[in-house]
Parts: sequence; C-alpha cells; structure tokens
Amino acid sequence: MDGSNVPDAAPVLILLGPPGAGKGTQARKLEEGFGLVQLSTGDLLRAAVAAGTEAGKQAKAVMESGALVSDEIVLAILKDRLAEPDCAKGVILDGFPRTTVQAEALDELLKASGQRINAAISLDVDDAEMVTRIAGRFTCGGCGEGYHDTFKAPVVAETCDKCGSTEMVRRADDNAETVASRLEAYHAQTAPLIDYYDGKGALVRVDAMGDIGAIASDLGAIVSRVSA
Ligand code: AMP
Repeated sequence: MDGSNVPDAAPVLILLGPPGAGKGTQARKLEEGFGLVQLSTGDLLRAAVAAGTEAGKQAKAVMESGALVSDEIVLAILKDRLAEPDCAKGVILDGFPRTTVQAEALDELLKASGQRINAAISLDVDDAEMVTRIAGRFTCGGCGEGYHDTFKAPVVAETCDKCGSTEMVRRADDNAETVASRLEAYHAQTAPLIDYYDGKGALVRVDAMGDIGAIASDLGAIVSRVSA
C-alpha cells in the first residue's frame, strides 16, 4: 500500500471493541472535541452497498450474515478514504482494523508515510450488555447522530435533537441472529488485536460499561495525553 494522507504530527487513534461497545458514539464525540476525522469502515461499506458499487455488491450479503467482509475490499475502501484531504487533521479508526492482516497492512501504510499509531483504545464491555445495546439503537438519517430506545432517546420521539430530522434509521444487521454472528466474528478474528497492540506498547483499556458521558471524558483524557 502507498502512504496515507495523514501528516506526521496528526494523531492516529484506533477504537477497538465488540459491536455495540460504543465505538461509533465515542468516535463522533472525539471528532467534535478534537477536530479529528472518524473513519468507520462499517459506514464506508454501508455507503458502498447503498451506492451499488462493485465492492458494495460483494459486501452486502456478508454484512447481512454478520461475518467480516474480505480484507481486500476493506483495505481498498479504507486506503481511498485515508487519501482524502480532511484526514490531514488526524483520524479515529472505528471498526478497523478487525483482523491481523488489516492491522499489519495499516502498520505498513503508516510506516510508508513516517507515521505511527498514537493509541489503540480497547472499549471493554461484556457480551450480554452488547445485545441490549444493539437491539435498541438507531441513527438519525439526516446527520448521523446515534440514539437508543433506553439509554439515549431523543427529547421528542422520532425527532433528531441535533438537526430536527424525523428520518430515523435502524440497521438491517442489528437483529438478534446477526448480532450473535457479529460477536462470534469479533471474538475469533478481532479480539486477538488487543494482544497485538499490547505487544507494541500502544494499547489503552477503558471500562466502557458506564454511561456515555463518563466514558467520553475518560477517552478525552487519553486522547489529550497520547496526542501531545
Ligand atoms: P460496523 O458498522 O463496524 O458494526 O460494521 C458492520 C459490518 O460491516 C460488519 O459486521 C462487517 O460485516 C463489515 N465490516 C465493517 N468493518 C469491517 C472491517 N474492518 N473488516 C471486515 N468487515 C468489516
């Protein structure tokens, strides 16, 4: 892979954790608080599916089953996105890497442009809690703000607090059966990355079972420390 467009000094952060750990929610907060760019391979793949691109056509059924999309497709999509100018501000990788092959490809990509990972932050949660969190979640179709039936309902039902849109979107893969497969894929293919980054001295663990605001403030402190 060629180098990325993120300059040497700009932070590169990874959010690790199972589906439902809050990676997307927290990445959005870090994006707002630190001016970083959230790169979610799940969002990029859903956009490719919606646009009907070749990669999207290949990814669709895999995503519906809860398995992981091929490293080849994901790496191509991520590399294109990293080359866009806004990534020069620094990035938070949300849902990437998810396999050792992806982690090694990212290392190479960053090495080629003289960069390093500032931290791989593991959001630690338990599986039972994940199913509850995923089952109740939805997103504003207008601005992407995340909500939850129990933990973060909009002030006015079905209306976005941030942009006022009434178009709320629930993900097709947020059903009990697919969630079980996604958790299985996480434990088999992604959890080993915790040791991978620990071995590189880049791992930071965060208890992510508490409320969104408390976790955001823990993460903010970590990001300030590792980006200094
Ligand atoms: P997410 O939005 O991160 O929960 O991802 C939704 C789905 O997209 C996953 O269940 C996978 O099928 C696919 N996906 C997202 N990111 C990756 C990745 N880094 N590697 C492989 N598949 C991915």
